[in-house]
Amino acid sequence: MIGQGRYSRRMRLLLVEDHASLADAMSRALQRAGFAVDHAANVEAAQDFAAVADYDLILMDLGLPDGDGLDLLGEIRRDHDWPAIILTARDALPDRLAGLDGGADDYIVKPVDMLELVARCRAVMRRPGGRLGTVLETAGLTLDTTQRRVAHAGRTIALGRRDIGVLEQLMRRKGQVVPRAVLEDAVYALDDAVTPNALEAAVSRIRKGLSEAGCAANIHTVRGVGWLLDDTADASG
Ligand code: CA
Repeated sequence: MIGQGRYSRRMRLLLVEDHASLADAMSRALQRAGFAVDHAANVEAAQDFAAVADYDLILMDLGLPDGDGLDLLGEIRRDHDWPAIILTARDALPDRLAGLDGGADDYIVKPVDMLELVARCRAVMRRPGGRLGTVLETAGLTLDTTQRRVAHAGRTIALGRRDIGVLEQLMRRKGQVVPRAVLEDAVYALDDAVTPNALEAAVSRIRKGLSEAGCAANIHTVRGVGWLLDDTADASG
């Protein structure tokens, strides 16, 4: 479940996104979730906001009409330690993972799922100091979203990049059925030549890796809908 805790003060976000309808949808979703949102549609507007306001989080699109989001983030980070989440198109993702070293705390792949957006913003801001380690954890299983490394009890589980993308989605929504379309997004993000059974094959490899590592997490198939990760050792299926 997504935490619904209330904050003692209104958390303030700077949304830097030039796609007008996407920015509107994101702003509405974030405002409904209780955040105050300032929207900048280009680098110059973002610089103006950053010069006068204080933020709990920045949401940064990378392709802006008057500059590069990563450059802007680096510039803002020289003066502020605000946490940042990068917004990136899925076909640009492999290149942009390097951007996490450039000062971002997490990334969200477009098209943006609004529930996921709100959950990820809350997750980043819940961290003491605001910095997100981007390590997902369940049942002793860890997935480092920056290093793209999966391990159980500290020992690496060898998985391909697209398998890790699928596992990441399942771990982020642990206990919830993750629809096939969401997982396909994760697969397509990293592989152009996807076969019809690519997802089944990926889930199969992940299950094998977890099982061989002695990990208690299970991936359940929900026929016709998707898959669900749970960490109950005695669950069957
Ligand atoms: Ca853009």
